Amino acid sequence: TSAPQKYRRILLKVSGEVLMGDTPYGIDTNTVQSVAEDVAEIVKSGVELCLVIGGGNIFRGMAGAAKGMERSSADYMGMLATVMNALAMQDALERIGVETRVQSAIPMATVCEPYIRRRAQRHLEKGRVVIFAAGTGNPFFTTDTAAALRAAEMQCDALFKGTSVDGVYTADPKKDPTAQRYDRLSYMDVLAKDLRVMDASAVALMRDSNIPIVVFSIKGRGNLLTVLRGEGTHTVVAE
Ligand code: UDP
Repeated sequence: TSAPQKYRRILLKVSGEVLMGDTPYGIDTNTVQSVAEDVAEIVKSGVELCLVIGGGNIFRGMAGAAKGMERSSADYMGMLATVMNALAMQDALERIGVETRVQSAIPMATVCEPYIRRRAQRHLEKGRVVIFAAGTGNPFFTTDTAAALRAAEMQCDALFKGTSVDGVYTADPKKDPTAQRYDRLSYMDVLAKDLRVMDASAVALMRDSNIPIVVFSIKGRGNLLTVLRGEGTHTVVAE
């Protein structure tokens, strides 16, 4: 099976919630393993891959702020949570023979590389998966925005958002059985209808860079490759 040459380089965003699997908190190793296998499959098919992992399975800044913490401090904790997830993903990938580098937006020299754009590009060219940790490195942002930022900087052909739902719906399909899935949406539709695809700032950044967003479910093993080929259920957000 050869690579769909439509995509030479992509960025995959996986939320912390996905990594939780069916557990109530933290990292579910079986789920991390499954995502790693999906990633290995597409890297072997010749696609260059950037990864951005969320941290919501461990800590969210908003949750800390709601309990009275200063928002910035809470957000830094959230960014540190993404580093833990990035290391878990790196470990799972390397165990199955995928070369990786973690680059953190918050320098942490004993743990991983600092984020250096040109160096990240070289890693990608050499076929290594680059895992971007610590979000944007700034409080008041999210890993969705970090994913959009890195996708633009790395000149990715698409941003794949792996969630627990197989696309964007008219309403929450887990609550409303009449909800319909969109096959395709424009950036403007998403912003105007306030559809919960990604943060508005992330969507705006993708619109400005003209990078399509592909929303799909990463829960089933093999979905990433299927969707990469333009098959299976998903929603494309583009021009
Ligand atoms: N965060 C931040 N700046 C960033 C990225 C993340 O402050 O650029 C913090 C923020 O507190 C956020 C937490 O890290 O709640 C975890 O990231 P996020 O909620 O985006 O993770 P996900 O929902 O994807 O699991």
